[in-house]
Amino acid sequence: MSVLDLARPDIRALAPYSSARMEAQGGTVLLNANESSRAPNIPGGEGLNRYPDPQPRALVETLAELYGCNSDRVLVTRGSDEAIDLLVRAFCRAGRDAVVVSPPTFGMYAVCARIQDAAVIEAPLDASGALAPDALLAAVTPPVKLVFVCTPNNPTGNVVPADVLAQLARELAGQAVLVVDEAYAEFSGLPSAATLIDTYDNVAVLRTLSKAWSLAGARVGALLARPEVIGLLRRIIPPYPLPSPCVDAALGALSYEGRRVQRHHLNEILTERARMLAELPGVPGVREVLPSHANFLAVRFDDAAGAYRRLLAAGVVVRDITRYPGLSDALRITIGTGNENDRVLAVLRAGEVA
Ligand SMILES: *Cc1c(COP(=O)(O)O)cnc(C)c1O
Repeated sequence: MSVLDLARPDIRALAPYSSARMEAQGGTVLLNANESSRAPNIPGGEGLNRYPDPQPRALVETLAELYGCNSDRVLVTRGSDEAIDLLVRAFCRAGRDAVVVSPPTFGMYAVCARIQDAAVIEAPLDASGALAPDALLAAVTPPVKLVFVCTPNNPTGNVVPADVLAQLARELAGQAVLVVDEAYAEFSGLPSAATLIDTYDNVAVLRTLSKAWSLAGARVGALLARPEVIGLLRRIIPPYPLPSPCVDAALGALSYEGRRVQRHHLNEILTERARMLAELPGVPGVREVLPSHANFLAVRFDDAAGAYRRLLAAGVVVRDITRYPGLSDALRITIGTGNENDRVLAVLRAGEVA
């Protein structure tokens, strides 16, 4: 049995759109894609008259090296949000199939599933906020094609231990694809689940340059999976998902100098996270700060709505996560610069005194 047996048969049979850029490579006089022969007369316009490479070689290879896998296991996507959407559309038949999620977790898994008319089955985190593998596996019925696990989890910040991920991959083999969303992996310092792909063809890992690489605006994500899964998703990905300025930005961020700066920023965030984790519990009105392996903290308040309003009145926007199960008293606060974090602490302290 192959992981492709879990995919939609009509997608497996689909002939992918063959773009001009894919059909003929090389050449110096390009008259095959109805592009303009002249570059636009704007700063940085050179080359923008041409369609971008569908999967730019240099970026695919750089990401493969960064994530420690073979380049035939990498699909570059328009943010990892696009990868979630591609997986749901390739594996879930509308009105018939389903996905499993473990709330409180990232909302896009359910949104993409609902858009595809796939059912969303919930296997909530346990009372301590940890992923409950047995409850999750019990939720996997025959229609379930994808199981989404986010680690570190958004919005709680907790991680799923490597042995639990391996157990899930093993037990789901032949039944469903385990999708491990590692959007915040860099902030955890823990090894990636991508090595599971060596053993299990039903594992896909999501990575992104949006968080730890400061490139949310460039929309560059990656899906790591077996080549047959990459090939399947390439049948349905739009022909030119990555604008060339975004590819250039990603290559710049991943250059030697870019990595040096990134390490510096990452260390700064980890230092600030430790400081906020130490200071916030002493702030009046703060009930609990959930330990986090990501670049945010989920913080429980006596009056979350009041804290949210006071912060907003001072110009500080945090995320209200009170609608999530088990977090009805919590706000999610991203770790900012030292000054930004000072501002959060000052507003929360002043609010209680007043
Ligand atoms: C931010 C986030 C993403 C989205 O990343 P993009 O690459 O910007 O689309 C994916 N998963 C989780 C859990 C996130 O928090």
